[in-house]
Amino acid sequence: MTSQTLNISAPRRCSTIQVIDSLAEITRYLDKELIEHSLLTTLSEFERDQELRLYKVVRHEPNLELALVGQYHQGIIVHGSEISCHSIEEGLAELIERSVAMGEMVVVPDAVDGKSVYVHPIYDQEGEMCSLLVQICPPLQSEDERLIGGLLRIYANYLSLLDLSQRDKLTSLLNRDRLHTKVMQILSRQRLSDSSQHQPRRRRHDEQRFWLAVIDIDHFKQVNDAYGHLIGDEILIVFARLMHEVFRNDDLLFRYGGEEFVVIIRADDKDNARCAFERFRTRVAEHEFPTVGSMTASLGVVEIDRQESPADVIDEADRALYWAKEHGRNRLAFYQDLVDAGDIVPKAMPIAGEINLF
Ligand code: GH3
Ligand code: MG
Ligand code: MG
Repeated sequence: MTSQTLNISAPRRCSTIQVIDSLAEITRYLDKELIEHSLLTTLSEFERDQELRLYKVVRHEPNLELALVGQYHQGIIVHGSEISCHSIEEGLAELIERSVAMGEMVVVPDAVDGKSVYVHPIYDQEGEMCSLLVQICPPLQSEDERLIGGLLRIYANYLSLLDLSQRDKLTSLLNRDRLHTKVMQILSRQRLSDSSQHQPRRRRHDEQRFWLAVIDIDHFKQVNDAYGHLIGDEILIVFARLMHEVFRNDDLLFRYGGEEFVVIIRADDKDNARCAFERFRTRVAEHEFPTVGSMTASLGVVEIDRQESPADVIDEADRALYWAKEHGRNRLAFYQDLVDAGDIVPKAMPIAGEINLF
């Protein structure tokens, strides 16, 4: 669990200069997790003796669905991927409903142990609610209330802009640049964990395991040839929607380019990963696509496990995908299975001293 312990000292007021400093810090990052972390750090400085919960909106319809992405409590910030189980208390759920219905901040003074509960809905540039902040703290001065409101608006605007630059225009899935960054982050964490244990390439028993699939629509060129590019584009949009339906909120969905997509999921073992990806393959094969009817997709899967670089991870998944295409399409293949069976030969690891840089 990665968490940050803050130095709890006597409560102090946050000055405007400090808020500006924090804004500079928030807008320094291009990574959503770091921005959320930075926002919670800034807000925690308004009042140390408080609880903060930052939620993201997962779905608006049919019911509003929220996922906790970060929490500050007793001087510690914990981020979403480390929060395994969280449910919203009944009283708080009612308050959230009220705040969402009114479209503005709601406060209940003296709600718990002399503390007030503030619920701040946060809206993106289209006026759609994208996040929500719950703050349980001693009553705030009205000046601080306004500062926090302004801070949350800047946070939402910055996230909207960032989101726009990190997503594919047609499908709104994350783009190829983000894929590279995310895989790099996972590999770096694995290296860090190895070096802290002084045991290279040894997985800790509680380490999260990540699996990456390159997904390619079968015979997609025929769709364009037979029905035209616009229908082709529509199929790509529907395909992205099916990805959202099948995979979980915290899975990462990318458009890699053309009719190729990438998904990164967390799963404890290969069987669980296989289940998730098979579920998607079946969902696609059973779906009635507009105009064209049935379509299938092939998947090449690899575990992200201490490869040299993101390019190596993608290359391994690509080779498994190529095998799946060559062996009938509408199927998935795991890179390691193919290596174990001798169906593909792994790339030779460079031996120290043999690397040619130029
Ligand atoms: P395979 O089963 O081997 O993957 O066959 P395929 O026809 O899907 O693969 P191929 O690589 O031959 O063709 C991919 C096609 O995807 C070619 C291109 O016209 C189409 N394509 C790529 N990007 C887009 C896009 O943004 N929109 C549309 N409509 N088509 C695209
Ligand atoms: Mg392709
Ligand atoms: Mg294809």
